[in-house]
Amino acid sequence: MFDVIIIGSGPAGISAGIYLKRAKKDVLIISNGKSALEKAKKIENYYGIESISGEELYKTGLKQAERLKIPIEIDEVTNITLEEHFTVTTTNRKYEARYVILATGTNRMAPNIKGVKEFEGKGVSYCAICDAFFYRNKNVAVIGNGNYAIHEAKQLKPIAKSVTILTNGKEIVQNRDASDFEVEETPIKEFRGTNSIEEVEFENNNTKKIEGVFIAIGTATSADLAKKIGAVVKNNNVVVNGNMETTVKGLYACGDCTGGLLQVNKAVYEGAVAALEIIKQLD
Ligand SMILES: Cc1cc2nc3c(=O)[nH]c(=O)nc-3n(C[C@H](O)[C@H](O)[C@H](O)COP(=O)(O)OP(=O)(O)OC[C@H]3O[C@@H](n4cnc5c(N)ncnc54)[C@H](O)[C@@H]3O)c2cc1C
Repeated sequence: MFDVIIIGSGPAGISAGIYLKRAKKDVLIISNGKSALEKAKKIENYYGIESISGEELYKTGLKQAERLKIPIEIDEVTNITLEEHFTVTTTNRKYEARYVILATGTNRMAPNIKGVKEFEGKGVSYCAICDAFFYRNKNVAVIGNGNYAIHEAKQLKPIAKSVTILTNGKEIVQNRDASDFEVEETPIKEFRGTNSIEEVEFENNNTKKIEGVFIAIGTATSADLAKKIGAVVKNNNVVVNGNMETTVKGLYACGDCTGGLLQVNKAVYEGAVAALEIIKQLD
């Protein structure tokens, strides 16, 4: 069991990792290897650095972690649960920890498909574990084509009548569980219904009756993971107190996922605060 698992290797996650490791805590970073930082062509507003590309700053952060011998697992986190300790589930395995820090940045985007925004809360959901119960014995779909979409489909399978994965024109990921589901790769035209979703129409004009749609595009964000474990999320931001602790004891969040200023300096600061608070608790 680890003292702390940090999910994310951007500025927030690495900053937390540096403080924890220097305090000799047993820490693991799990990251799927992509940071918002890599999209930044040039960063010229960070103290002490006149100009640097986002990619270079990200790689320097990773090198710093490497030098401190902080283990970084390249994997995708799909779920977190809490019993006596936290269990962090990735595509490949499970890890246990006393504390977890969410530092996955922010990337949740509703797909730009007609009907998705209109039916939010009326058939469109962003969390299978939270809302599956409302769709028992109903025909539901999951939008996405990666490991996270398959994870969400697996959550729904024992409860819903049928689960179809809609990849919206993309190829489904080669995952050992993908073959357990009906997969529709045709691009989606729109979701229709009267008071709630009733059917999906594809670009080829075929239709399919569905009563619920779960959005699981890309990877699980901190907001997705927080919701699954019952932490409060507001406007897609994880709610934290001044110590960066979420409403679930032992679960911390930092960086872009907590909202506010979406900048490197705030991510670095919040990572440090979360780490220092956990160090205090562990000691
Ligand atoms: C185009 C662009 C330009 C920008 N320019 C500036 C600028 O000039 N100055 C500035 O200060 N900021 C800038 N930013 C913002 C800055 O990049 C972010 O504020 C910062 O990267 C946030 O850090 P973070 O650690 O919270 O998240 P991120 O850097 O996004 O890191 C998130 C980490 O979580 C991991 N992750 C996500 N989901 C999972 C999962 N399910 N399982 C495992 N790992 C996961 C990712 O692999 C990544 O390692 C810019 C951003 C963009 C997009």
